[in-house]
Amino acid sequence: MGLSAEERARYQRQLNLPEIGLSGQQRLKAARVLVIGAGGLGCPAALYLAAAGIGTLGLVDFDRVELSNLHRQVLFASADVGRLKVEAARERLLALNPDIVIRAHALTLGTDNVRQIIGAYDIVLDGSDRLTTRYLVNDACVLLGKPLVTAAIHRFEGQAMTYLPGQGPCYRCLFPSVPEGAVGSCADAGVLGVLPGVLGALQASEAVKLASGAGEPLVGRLLTYDALTVTFAELPVSRRADCRVCGEQADIRAPEDSGVGSASEGLEPARRLSATGLKVLLAAGKANGAPLVLIDVRESWEFAARHLEGARNIPLGQLERRIAELAPDDAPIFICRSGGRSLAACALARRAGIIAPGHLEGGLLAWAEHVDPDFALGFE
Ligand SMILES: [Zn+2]
Repeated sequence: MGLSAEERARYQRQLNLPEIGLSGQQRLKAARVLVIGAGGLGCPAALYLAAAGIGTLGLVDFDRVELSNLHRQVLFASADVGRLKVEAARERLLALNPDIVIRAHALTLGTDNVRQIIGAYDIVLDGSDRLTTRYLVNDACVLLGKPLVTAAIHRFEGQAMTYLPGQGPCYRCLFPSVPEGAVGSCADAGVLGVLPGVLGALQASEAVKLASGAGEPLVGRLLTYDALTVTFAELPVSRRADCRVCGEQADIRAPEDSGVGSASEGLEPARRLSATGLKVLLAAGKANGAPLVLIDVRESWEFAARHLEGARNIPLGQLERRIAELAPDDAPIFICRSGGRSLAACALARRAGIIAPGHLEGGLLAWAEHVDPDFALGFE
């Protein structure tokens, strides 16, 4: 794969490195790297991978940009709030480097699609904040023989490790099963914004090394970083003979064995929005010129008594036969009284092929409590 004069100019500082050089840069151009999660880790990783000239970059995420993402998800600007993350990311990355291909996958990985998605790439970076996704991605990478660069963050601490097929331990060797009382997500526990920047850049560095053939990958070594004390440490990690996916008598032989549901069943079938989150989205949606699709799934008499401005009424019982009123990429937000019917509506919408349904957690009761005390439902 040759390089144009413009590409030679763009990558000159990298071409000057003897460890990379022209052949390494050509390998980067031929490489297909998948970034799972366009969040705190995926954003900086994708920026550096695009800048470095990775020829095909895939992004998996079905969330939309929220205001509270911006302190760490550096691909996005304030004006992106409310947009699909992968769409905003593609635009930003192509503005940075128009010579590469960006594939946006607005979906959740599940047992039914993980093979197809990961199979189309050479290297995988996992920046997901869902533990179940981590195991699914690890198992799929082991089964498909794909290198995996994994990283995780929590409050002020981060860790990273690289898996190479047949060479070192996998994520499941390190953590054989989902830990009891697993740590909360960033939303619950909080995270220092710059922390995922450090770890995401490390993941990108690993991917560039793997793709170009330079250096020693982080195989068999768990790198830990403590931002409070500025301490990097390394823990040696070995393969486990009894690992369920890469061990001698592995019983995970297909993604379906991972113990993770299919994307359509969805362990996380819905984007959950808080009342205050919805308030921001509503304002941003209008400011963005991209009206949000707000569906109130209560009964028509409940809707008539009081509803949010701009909401449409499709009672839950009618949703299945009226689902064609929604486009697959609409990303509707379902609303009900307390959050139960709206969650059911999300599951139904997902089964019908709507890519990214969301719902108001706690329903209009939460809206009245946290956003608009004057919003009386009118039938208490
Ligand atoms: Zn293993």
